[in-house]
Amino acid sequence: MADTADVVVVGAGIIGCATAYYLSREGAKVRMLDMDAIGSGASAHATGFLSLLGTEFPQGAPWRFGLEGYRMFVETVPQLEEQTGMDLLWQEPGGLRLALEEEEIGMIKEGMAWQANDTPIEWIGPEDVRQIEPRLTPNVLGAAYQPKLAQLDSYRLTLALGRAAELNGTESMQRRVMGLVKEGSRVTGVKLEREEVHCGTVVLAMGAWSSESTSWLDFPVPVTYLKGERLMLRYDGQPLPVLISSPKRGHMISRRDGFLSVGSTRGRDYDKDNLFRGMEFDRQPSEKARMDIMGWATDVFPDLENAELVEQLAGSRPLSPDRLPIIGPVPGTDGVMLATGHTTKGIHLSLVTGKALADRIFRGHADLPVDMTAFLPDRFANTPAPDFQASGQDVEE
Ligand SMILES: Cc1cc2nc3c(=O)[nH]c(=O)nc-3n(C[C@H](O)[C@H](O)[C@H](O)COP(=O)(O)OP(=O)(O)OC[C@H]3O[C@@H](n4cnc5c(N)ncnc54)[C@H](O)[C@@H]3O)c2cc1C
Repeated sequence: MADTADVVVVGAGIIGCATAYYLSREGAKVRMLDMDAIGSGASAHATGFLSLLGTEFPQGAPWRFGLEGYRMFVETVPQLEEQTGMDLLWQEPGGLRLALEEEEIGMIKEGMAWQANDTPIEWIGPEDVRQIEPRLTPNVLGAAYQPKLAQLDSYRLTLALGRAAELNGTESMQRRVMGLVKEGSRVTGVKLEREEVHCGTVVLAMGAWSSESTSWLDFPVPVTYLKGERLMLRYDGQPLPVLISSPKRGHMISRRDGFLSVGSTRGRDYDKDNLFRGMEFDRQPSEKARMDIMGWATDVFPDLENAELVEQLAGSRPLSPDRLPIIGPVPGTDGVMLATGHTTKGIHLSLVTGKALADRIFRGHADLPVDMTAFLPDRFANTPAPDFQASGQDVEE
């Protein structure tokens, strides 16, 4: 006899774990399946920076989704830490988005003109920047100062959400999903190598592997892999008092475990031929990325020349054609939801995505102050061959 659950979640990255967490809080019997270990995909490589500025949260629904995602972290991290006993290395010290070039002043101020309506943010001059961190390069021209800016360890968060989901009754198993069980146009379960799991709803949270489900659904799931790398450094000086980023030089964050994270590479940091070479290639740390990232870091904070490289992380982000997540039901097929394509913001958007899906499955709509139609899969109904080169080159951190 086939196994049963209310909901099967395919993929135990940050998106699958957050979805299982919110579903199990509602009392659903959830089965979470991953072909590898929990958090073994992109979610293990992320910086865990919850940054609203930059170009990845454009005005409108994506911005609202990012704001709500941030708000949910502030509320949820203490609950998760209490439930699981894990320290997620959460910090909310505020931050600086630095301009080292005239062009960056324009890039930052353009966004601030509307971002400041919803989040505290102010432009400060170079003297004020140096008051906050005197060791920064004298070439700083000014910065956006944000008192509310946070970071945490993304791998620990993934494990904590998975653990909390299990404490709420979710069963997680290491299994590769090979296809869907269907009755007419309704999905009624998933096919594994030797067995089936039957359920009311399947959530496909397969990250950069998501396009495999195109043939299962007979509907385009346009997601590919986009390489990203960052470095962990040991630096003997005092930690940075705030989280630092800049449009052209990425982030610089003193983590609560004492290491300093710098990076990350963007799409345009790889030549076009190397952009989509495959996930095995993406997992290989490259010397060029190491040199580029150290160059950006010492431009901003010259004393990092004395830092020691501890680890170079490399992985695949799940890139969608418009760099926005793909969340919701699949046209023409009942009983299945997509939750993928979060590109560079999957950690930031994990909780709000999990809640949106749990709401949708239990109440038919996402109970959030965000118009979720911008993220529906149906926007790709007529895009069988999307242009990933263009979106890949545009991706910011
Ligand atoms: C260097 C770098 C820095 C980043 N920094 C940040 C950051 O600061 N902030 C931020 O918000 N985001 C950041 N990101 C992006 C973030 O990591 C991703 O958006 C996010 O992790 C995607 O999560 P996911 O659950 O969709 O995918 P994944 O974590 O890749 O999980 C997908 C899972 O699905 C499983 N799977 C796939 N197919 C199957 C199948 N057929 N059967 C069973 N299991 C299957 C895989 O094994 C995998 O575990 C960064 C990424 C990188 C690479």
